[in-house]
Amino acid sequence: MAPGPVVDRTAQNVERVSQDLRSVYSSGKTKSVEWRVSQLKSLLRITTHYEKDILEALRSDLNKPELEAFSHEVYGVSSSCELALKELHRWMMPEKVKTSMINFPSTGEIVSEPLGVVLVISTWNYPFKLSLDPVIGAIAAGNAVVLKPSEVAPATSSLMSNLLGEYMDPSAVKVVEGGVPETTALLEQKWDKIFYTGNSKIGRIILTAAAKHLTPVVLELGGKCPVVVDSNIDLKVAARRIISGKWACNSGQTCVSPDYIVTTKEYALKLVDALSCELENFYGKDPLLSNDLSSIINSRHFDRLTKLLDDEKVSGKVVIGGQRDRDKLKIAPTVLLDVSQDSLVMNEEIFGPLLPIVTVAKIEESIGLINTKEKPLAAYMFTNDKKLKEEFIRSVSAGGMCINEIALHLAEHTLPFGGVGESGMGAYHGKFSFDAFSHKKPVLQRGFNGDVAARYPPYTPWKLKFLKAMLSGNILSILRALIGW
Ligand code: NAD
Repeated sequence: MAPGPVVDRTAQNVERVSQDLRSVYSSGKTKSVEWRVSQLKSLLRITTHYEKDILEALRSDLNKPELEAFSHEVYGVSSSCELALKELHRWMMPEKVKTSMINFPSTGEIVSEPLGVVLVISTWNYPFKLSLDPVIGAIAAGNAVVLKPSEVAPATSSLMSNLLGEYMDPSAVKVVEGGVPETTALLEQKWDKIFYTGNSKIGRIILTAAAKHLTPVVLELGGKCPVVVDSNIDLKVAARRIISGKWACNSGQTCVSPDYIVTTKEYALKLVDALSCELENFYGKDPLLSNDLSSIINSRHFDRLTKLLDDEKVSGKVVIGGQRDRDKLKIAPTVLLDVSQDSLVMNEEIFGPLLPIVTVAKIEESIGLINTKEKPLAAYMFTNDKKLKEEFIRSVSAGGMCINEIALHLAEHTLPFGGVGESGMGAYHGKFSFDAFSHKKPVLQRGFNGDVAARYPPYTPWKLKFLKAMLSGNILSILRALIGW
């Protein structure tokens, strides 16, 4: 592969990047449907022609198993591109809306227009998909875009910089690699939207920087995602789905991974047995040797996770796993039973392969317990109890939800994906991505007929009566006012 362009790193270069993009955007180039289609096609070609390089970069950054890397990242991006290419004309079409008597005769429509020059700041856990999925929305909506990938996944960041530099329109799609200094320099510029994925502490920095320029933001953050496990279920299927959504998703380094389980005291041991049995089926007797388990991203995060495990408040609580290997950055799937609410593991987002189980006397108590915490990005329940399920959907506020499944709501492009409260603001996926990077411009059109004198001064009692009749929308009242009855 040919080397990519030299990466812009200094604040000065960052300022030039933003100015260059603004002048390209002003030329109208990115607004044309042809430009949008050509860029989406280039991105699609990158995912197919460079699949091997992408999988290798993900293996290098996260030791991500090929099946996970392909399905969650490569396919995630290519399917988004394909959908955008298929639906683009429909998404771009103005949406006709009804108009009222007040403006009769008139037509109304909502026109989607690009926002301008947008900034996408991404994270490391799905470094390919979470960088390019928002970029697809930005391009589909007709914006010029700067992508700032996460420096924590350097191989994927560098590969994206090279591939996008080589195959995308360099005048309107740019990658700026780097960490805090580069992101800080980028945040000093004026953007028309900032799309940020990462933790909520940095989310606050992003929001503060955006406020200076009155820039709208999407914040895709994290949180503690609960899983309620009732006792009237197919336990084997539930255990497999929990394992798949936790450990088969990047060793739990996933924003929508189960963060803790709530079940009854009575049922907890059965659940532990089922998890233990299925974990052994999936990862063998020594999971640290399994090639199907991602590593922890770096030693900083490894040490953060082992600190949660070594907290004296969870001493003696490990019922599955607990093994670790700092040299290989691997931690076995680990389940902790009956942890207390004041333990470290229950007071921060885990974002790794530890899964505490909290027990309650009655399963209905789980809802109150979840609601004592910040609103999570996702909440899950396994149950066959219709009333309990409905209560869960009604009473728990979360970015998204699955019943009897984990994380798969993300796979549906017809469902918006985003957080609420502490887990974020705004949403994307499918058409919601296009909408996230568009301004919905209302356009009312009239001719010169039907110009009602009643709206103009001098105001008279009859004009007021007529106006009230018009506002009521009642044809009879309007006729009465007209004939002075
Ligand atoms: P990270 O360390 O890669 O940081 C994210 C981005 O912020 C990076 O591009 C980084 O360069 C930038 N950044 C870091 N410090 C900064 C600073 N001081 N000023 C400006 N920019 C800065 O990723 P992370 O935060 O460790 O990501 C993990 C978090 O992201 C978790 O909380 C997880 O739940 C969340 N997440 C959310 C989603 C989602 O879609 N909602 C997806 C993945 C991860």
